Amino acid sequence: MKILRVLPKNATGQIISVYVTWIKGAVESLNSSSGRKELHFVFVDNGRKALMDNPYFNEALKCIRCGSCANVCPVYGVLGGHVFGHIYTGPIGAILTSFYHDDKKAMELLSLCCGCKACSEICPANIDIQKLISDIYGGLRLKYGVDKLRSSVYYGVLSKPSTMKKMIKAGSLVLRIAEKNSHINSPLIPKKHNFRILPAPKEESFSSIFRKKFEARQEMVESEKTVFFYPGCAIEYIYPEIGESVVKFLNKIGLRVKIPEKIVCCGYPAVHDGDKISAKRIINESVKYLPVEESFDYFLVLCPTCGTTLKYLFREFVTDMPKEYKKVKFVEGRIVNLSRLLDDLNVKVKTKNGILFTYHIPCHQNRGLHFNGERFLKSLLSNYYMPMEDADRCCGFGGSFSIDYPQVSKAILDKKIESIVNTSASVVVTECPGCIMQIRGGLLKRSIPVEVKHLSEFLDEYVEID
Ligand code: SF4
Ligand code: SF4
Repeated sequence: MKILRVLPKNATGQIISVYVTWIKGAVESLNSSSGRKELHFVFVDNGRKALMDNPYFNEALKCIRCGSCANVCPVYGVLGGHVFGHIYTGPIGAILTSFYHDDKKAMELLSLCCGCKACSEICPANIDIQKLISDIYGGLRLKYGVDKLRSSVYYGVLSKPSTMKKMIKAGSLVLRIAEKNSHINSPLIPKKHNFRILPAPKEESFSSIFRKKFEARQEMVESEKTVFFYPGCAIEYIYPEIGESVVKFLNKIGLRVKIPEKIVCCGYPAVHDGDKISAKRIINESVKYLPVEESFDYFLVLCPTCGTTLKYLFREFVTDMPKEYKKVKFVEGRIVNLSRLLDDLNVKVKTKNGILFTYHIPCHQNRGLHFNGERFLKSLLSNYYMPMEDADRCCGFGGSFSIDYPQVSKAILDKKIESIVNTSASVVVTECPGCIMQIRGGLLKRSIPVEVKHLSEFLDEYVEID
């Protein structure tokens, strides 16, 4: 009865299923001496017992086959079950395939996950499907080997902030000369990757700008509260102007800002690619520059993927390091995204010029940091807010996912752009540099005159404190 109550509602939104088969035992038969037919049950094991004995992954056996995870999966939405599936399809199918069938097929399916967490959020059996996918993929990568080129970048560059800085600076220079502007739009880019116009890294990093322009004046901010701002790689190298806008806004509302001594990657690209060895090296380096207890009140992230990695994954990589583990646990409790911080502080804003805006909810903000900035902005600027259909649906970026599967990424982006255009808003506000890269790049490519702004830029340019 419990299954009957849960299954149709989650599968198709119906109160009750169209039909139900009840097996009540052997039925009567005139041809049988016993007066009843024989009834046989055949249980096919096919790896299920092994899965049941696995204390971590046996969570997958709680699945009631409602199909909700497939319904909400953006990848499944564009590919369907023949591509994103083997015998069992969709997100849970990728997990079951790795236990019931061969590793090769499973690797292919697991690698199709862009990590949006929509499946984990919707599952009525509370299975953290995305986490299981990521962990199984990591295990298979360990067994069969990681991508050597990417791994050398993760291991040798991302974990070393000074090497990374030098390489990005050199790369930025080459790109600027080759492209003659700040965007990468060369006709040499393979057609399937040329569905968005990406930004080139900036000449000067955010931390360098911060030290020159903002650091000294932080001591003069008369405030009881200190915000430790973790910029992440995207703000540091690609969008330093977003970092500048947040520092200006926070100072304006009377908060002092500190940044890490060195900017190290959060390690998510390596985690997503299943390269746990590189991820551990990057995270161990990153932890060195996290703030010590009591030196800050809020730990601000402008990239929810960095925030979610810090909040839920860092601890896994420092379990053997008690001092660092304690530091991470302390930081976890203070992580906020910008809209959450402003909501906590009860900051009120009003529009400067009445611009109509909509809001794209980044996957890892909604389903990782668990704060919906859309509701916050809507409550403050309701007359100018244009609701977007499926505002919390992934934009198709997913870091290396959009490089590995450009056609899938484009198809997901096309749906997002259609939703944006239908709102008639002039600005899309969001809180993730990855989403900005993808959506802004897609709009630019299609010459659609809608701006995409991080919330910090939107606050800086279009609103004033009420
Ligand atoms: S995390 Fe997102 S992309 Fe991955 S399987 Fe779940 S719904 Fe699909
Ligand atoms: S994993 Fe969860 S959401 Fe997916 S089919 Fe099973 S019960 Fe439904």
